[in-house]
Amino acid sequence: LPKDLFSPRRNSAGIEVGDRRALGSLIAERRRTRVERLEARCEAAAAKTGGEPVEIVSPVDGGLLGTSYHLSSEAATALVREAAAHCRTAEAVPGPRRAEMLRKAASLMEERQAELLAILAAEGGKTLDDGIAEVREAVDFLRFYADEAMRLFGAPVELPGPTGEENRLTYRPRGVAVAISPWNFPLAIFTGQVAAALAAGNVVIAKPAEQTPLIAAKAVELLHQAGFAKEHLYLAPGDGRTGAALTSHDLTAVVAFTGSTETAFAINRALASRNAPIAPLIAETGGINALIADATALPEQVADDVVMSAFRSAGQRCSALRLLFLQEDVADKILDMIAGAAKELTVGDPRELSTDIGPVIDGEQLAMLRDHVSRMEREQKLRYRGEVPADLAAKGHYFAPHIVEIDRPEALDREIFGPVLHVVRWKARDFDKILDAIEATGYGLTLGVHSRINETAHKVIARLSVGNVYVNRNIIGAIVGSQPFGGSGLSGTGPKAGGPNYLVRFAREQVISVNT
Ligand code: GLU
Repeated sequence: LPKDLFSPRRNSAGIEVGDRRALGSLIAERRRTRVERLEARCEAAAAKTGGEPVEIVSPVDGGLLGTSYHLSSEAATALVREAAAHCRTAEAVPGPRRAEMLRKAASLMEERQAELLAILAAEGGKTLDDGIAEVREAVDFLRFYADEAMRLFGAPVELPGPTGEENRLTYRPRGVAVAISPWNFPLAIFTGQVAAALAAGNVVIAKPAEQTPLIAAKAVELLHQAGFAKEHLYLAPGDGRTGAALTSHDLTAVVAFTGSTETAFAINRALASRNAPIAPLIAETGGINALIADATALPEQVADDVVMSAFRSAGQRCSALRLLFLQEDVADKILDMIAGAAKELTVGDPRELSTDIGPVIDGEQLAMLRDHVSRMEREQKLRYRGEVPADLAAKGHYFAPHIVEIDRPEALDREIFGPVLHVVRWKARDFDKILDAIEATGYGLTLGVHSRINETAHKVIARLSVGNVYVNRNIIGAIVGSQPFGGSGLSGTGPKAGGPNYLVRFAREQVISVNT
């Protein structure tokens, strides 16, 4: 296996491949950027009085990075009211102007890449590779939705009709859009939701995850700097109560949410219980993602793709591999390779270049992972236990890769968000049972198939209703515009982020028929 298991396939820092000097100065600049005393607060008049200060500490070493303010329910409610008063002026900004501001924000993010990387590492525990890919994704979202805004909001769609009648379809903003984003992609997903909602002409209230408000505040600062008015984009730092107040308000017209399936259910209920127009929910949630490898697959490639899919970003991706199905004849060989490769991964401070796996986000996640592994150790077979060096463990929330062999797929009964891979062996005659088991999870986000038999891949694809299928490659790191991302079932509602149907959901359609 290559030494640098996580090297990106393309240079996503926007630096010419081989230009070591440019990459070197980006790394040096990131290192020089001190992350401290940042602030995430809501600037809206309505929220001025309603926020408790909260300290943001780093998962890397417990260092104090800055302050956030959790908006109280009352402040969040007042914020929606204030936002609603600005919907007309937001709609009056022409589509091409919105696109121009999104493109400007993309360029600003590229210029400020080193600073964003430093915050992503300190606040989100992101390694350099992960940070670069994340900034790239945020920039891609901004440019992609700018293009989409031109396509959808540039000119009305002319529709057929009889002589003497003109029919036109136009897209108009919905009004107040609430965007609630997760800590695992605190810049990319935050920016993607906000950019889409802004592109469609809405007034946006963006609530970042409690753990990662500082990078979100930076993104909002750059969007304002790019030209979006303060009263068209509000940052709403807060906790679950803040989110609940925002999503249960009658004037909230659309909600974009990425996070847990349980929270998506709660938001759906909150929206449904309002005595107000029905507002759509765009939810992107979790998954118990599987990869099936048969005896014809290339073992080295399977091992490489599995290590990448299960352990990169410390397994803290909703796309990450949780359940690996290995055909019995090749299982031991591939398992040994995976364990061997996992052993080579360096768990450490994400600011160090030698680090492959940074910390998990907080103490709660760490405790959950430890509990899960000890339960698995008691009930199943632990195949590989990664170790965290003692000095590191004392500093932050670190958890090394683990591999557990389970005797049946149902033994993994929920999404475990971290670097724990579960492996099941299968015999040829049980192939359909595997597919049944995957389907029975109720999730449908990502799926991998490794096989050199075409029919096998086709059968799996036809049988399972997952959002993103990857054949003979890893199952993470969907690229905006090339691999629109999102699942179905318990994994989300669609439309897919970074795809041609996403923006439409943030708009309402209007048809104008004129008798000429
Ligand atoms: N889009 C990311 C990927 O393809 C995952 C997003 C998430 O974890 O929410 O890896």
